[in-house]
Amino acid sequence: MSYDKDNIFAKIIRGEISCDKIYEDDFVLSFKDIRPQAPSHALIIPKGNYLDINDFSLNASDNEIIGFNRAIAKVADMLGISENSGGNGYRVIANAGNDAHQEVPHLHFHLLAGRPLGPMVFPEKPN
Ligand code: 5GP
Repeated sequence: MSYDKDNIFAKIIRGEISCDKIYEDDFVLSFKDIRPQAPSHALIIPKGNYLDINDFSLNASDNEIIGFNRAIAKVADMLGISENSGGNGYRVIANAGNDAHQEVPHLHFHLLAGRPLGPMVFPEKPN
């Protein structure tokens, strides 16, 4: 699948659709998920056009990869969900492709926190 420049997160980056912004720098944008699955549910997306974590890991520049990874800790600390910032911890999820139920075809990491999240995220069946 090739990158679709009209996906919803590309439109959010371009400012064509609004979001509840948490953090922004040269490399990333972070905002609240519109359908939160936990008391705190943030999304972090790179500003570059990457379909999923596979595309990003293979094709992003070193600076983009470093910037994206640093932003995870920045956002977690800003939200107070990291143990580092006095929170109880958080889960990072990145869905890639059909079996993972990736809905939006622009790389995004989910940061979920604010309640015990259970041992894993397999709500339907274990295998
Ligand atoms: P995926 O299933 O692709 O890993 O997750 C996509 C996420 O994007 C979902 O949790 C969904 O609620 C969120 N989402 C979809 N459209 C929008 C939107 O327009 N604004 C925001 N803030 N989140 C969205």
